[in-house]
This record gives sequence, C-alpha cells and structure tokens, in this order.
Amino acid sequence: MKCSIKKRTYRAIYRLLDRVSPIPYDCGTLCNAACCTCAGDEPPDEPQLGIYLLPGEDKLFTKKEDWLHWTAEDASDYDFPDSWFGTVYFVTCLCAPHCPRNMRPLQCRFFPLAPHLDGAGRLRLIYSDLDLPYRCPLIDDSMTLTPSFIQAVYTVWKHLIRDCLIYDLVEYDSSFRQEENLRFIR
Ligand code: SF4
Ligand code: SF4
Repeated sequence: MKCSIKKRTYRAIYRLLDRVSPIPYDCGTLCNAACCTCAGDEPPDEPQLGIYLLPGEDKLFTKKEDWLHWTAEDASDYDFPDSWFGTVYFVTCLCAPHCPRNMRPLQCRFFPLAPHLDGAGRLRLIYSDLDLPYRCPLIDDSMTLTPSFIQAVYTVWKHLIRDCLIYDLVEYDSSFRQEENLRFIR
C-alpha cells in the first residue's frame, strides 16, 4: 500500500507524541501495564495481542528489533477498508512493558483514544471502543486525560487523515459505531 505520509513525518509525529502522556504519571502503575502484558485468549506459545502499524509506519523500523515480533499479513484477510490491499504489519511486544519508549508504535501511543468521524464529517476523539480483554482504568474510571495529550493526539490524527488510506480507515471504523454509545473526548 502506498501511503503519502513520509518517513520524516512519521519521525516528527513520534517526537511530538514522545512529549505527552495520557496522565501525568505512568498509567501502567494503575493496572500492571495491562495493555502491554495482557495475554488475551491466545495460547501461550502463540503471538499475543498485537498492534497493527499504519501504512508506511514500518519504514521507521528495521524489522529486526529484538523487542518486537513481526507478522506481515494480507490486508484483505482482516477488517480493513476495501482500499487497503497488500501487506499490513502486525507487531507483538516481546519484552512488554519494557520497550524502547521512543519507538512505541502509533496505535500504542494513541491509546486510550481513538479517532472518529462524526455525522458531519468532523474529526473527533473518543475513548477506544474496542472490546478489550483487559481492564483499562483510564477508560473504565473515566480518568481525566491531560489536555496536552488530547491536543497532540488530535493534531496527529488531523494530519494523518490527509492520507487517503488512513482517512478510509478512520471512516470505515467510524461507520460501525453508534454515536449515542460513544464517549467523546474532543
Ligand atoms: S493505557 Fe490503560 S491499560 Fe494501558 S497501562 Fe495505561 S491504564 Fe493500563
Ligand atoms: S510498545 Fe511498549 S508500551 Fe506499547 S504495548 Fe508494547 S510494550 Fe506496551
């Protein structure tokens, strides 16, 4: 898949998100880093919960990082928009939660927020509405998120959806949601 987001732009996005955090301290202390270490329903010898990379985000990695397990999948085998074809990379963290913080993939950095396009086509941010196999206190206890984190995540998504593939993904995910069930953050 050809993404218009350049490697240097992804680098700049990583740097921007390096400077913010959902709450003013390590939220992993609240839950024993549940989103990093949760095994989900997979057998112990199988790769556990993974993170998919956005198109082109893999350019930031060598794919030989010893803290990541890589899987290259065909987009058509997964729940992605029709415009997504070819390879999608999934990574699983092998030394969670002790990863190189400045190399965390974007989908990890955005959590617990997710982008949503509302009925008027405006970009909004919601608490992640994924069916999670663990409890995230930030979501379940509606903890106040730092304004700098919300602003940075919004700014990044505003930029990312200028790319057609990423816009299609956000639109696709949004189309399955009932807005009355969503918790809007912005
Ligand atoms: S994002 Fe949620 S589940 Fe993950 S470490 Fe923070 S509080 Fe725990
Ligand atoms: S990249 Fe790091 S913080 Fe994110 S899920 Fe993996 S181990 Fe946890």
